[in-house]
Amino acid sequence: MRGHKLLNILIFVGLIAGVIVGFLLLKWFDSQDLTGAEIGQKIKWLATAGDLILIRPLKMLIIPLVFASVVVGITSIGDPSRLGLVGTTTIVYYFATMFVAVVLGAFLVTSIRPGDGVSQKIDFDQVRETFENSDTSPKKKIEGAPKDLGGAWSNILRQVIPDNVLGAAVEGQPLPVITFAILFGLALGFLGDRVKPAVDFFEAFFQAIMTLVGWVLWLTPIGVFLLVAWTIASLGGEAIAAVGKYMIVVITGLIIHGFLTLPLVLFLFGQTNPYRFMWRMRPALMTAFGTDSSSATLPVTIRTAETEGECSKRASGFVLPLGSTINMDGTALYEAVAVIFLFQVFGIELGFEALAVVALTATLAAVGAAGIPSAGLVTMVIVIQAVNTSLAGTGKPELPIWSIGIILGVDRIVDMCRTTINVWGDLVGAKIITRIAPDDEDQRAAAMG
Ligand code: ASP
Repeated sequence: MRGHKLLNILIFVGLIAGVIVGFLLLKWFDSQDLTGAEIGQKIKWLATAGDLILIRPLKMLIIPLVFASVVVGITSIGDPSRLGLVGTTTIVYYFATMFVAVVLGAFLVTSIRPGDGVSQKIDFDQVRETFENSDTSPKKKIEGAPKDLGGAWSNILRQVIPDNVLGAAVEGQPLPVITFAILFGLALGFLGDRVKPAVDFFEAFFQAIMTLVGWVLWLTPIGVFLLVAWTIASLGGEAIAAVGKYMIVVITGLIIHGFLTLPLVLFLFGQTNPYRFMWRMRPALMTAFGTDSSSATLPVTIRTAETEGECSKRASGFVLPLGSTINMDGTALYEAVAVIFLFQVFGIELGFEALAVVALTATLAAVGAAGIPSAGLVTMVIVIQAVNTSLAGTGKPELPIWSIGIILGVDRIVDMCRTTINVWGDLVGAKIITRIAPDDEDQRAAAMG
């Protein structure tokens, strides 16, 4: 227990030290008149070191962990009717909370209007040029990603129904592995006692991976320090000046969703003290903030939920892996705010119908976003295209895709905040589902209060 406490303190210290060093570097480079992108390049070694020390070790564990935890989760839920209830409740929870997040984001951005007056502060030619030509431009990623609703759906469906699960595993795609693990777990459950050694094997496999996660966790303080320092230093004063208000709107939305909406949902449906639970989940939340990736954080999320959050293996083995790729409340909120903000910058007014399109497609775009850095930025194109299509025939101009370049400079910091809320949403789901699928009677009694 003392080890846990020390680790939590160290992660916190790493995070705060990262913020302080990041701001000091930012100030220092700013005085040399460097832009955010230039600073980012100059101190790229910080990001590379953070990648080597924390992100890669965590990523190494993801696929084996996803497979083992889902198999163990599904086999231990057992009873097919309970499994149906857990599955349905989980999916309803994911979509309902994402939709609420989108509506909140749309409400805030249409009332505060952070896009008004921004166009005078921006050099559009330069934004376009940077978006299309720079080395770090997301243009290439966007070109390879689906751009319309049909493409997005079929992309998700192809992952949900994979033809080559090993190929997907090799490419590090969790969703196809989850599908296979659910089916495999069902088959093991169906065969019952005859395959008990296999069930025991996966249980032991899962425990071993969890032990590895425990070891990697000790790298978190230094990894988080390096990554946070790099992100803050490469923000660049010029980016914040133009889109600071937009950042404030996204972060305010994330705070309201994370500190009010989700706690309320947890209180009502999980009968848990939400803030105490949030406090206990801080290793996972701080790792999410530092790594900028729900998938990379997943090993820490599962471990923290089980060891410190009293979530059942049944609930966390299923809700957390699936949630890390599907359930993204923070990303959904951000997509809505960012798209409406960009339309505001270009002076294009969106009516109710267009806002409804934003709400629906932002939810889907968040589902389609992988749990990796900047994934939401890429799937945002789906939302922009859908709104552009809905505007056809109204006489209003289209929003160019390169307009995404306007928010590029601050996206990493916004991404860290939304990733934290994505992971928090998954944890709240796991705690709620623990009530339906506790591991034993003691836990059931505790979950029922
Ligand atoms: N980085 C986010 C996550 O991993 C996804 C995104 O919004 O870009 O959850």
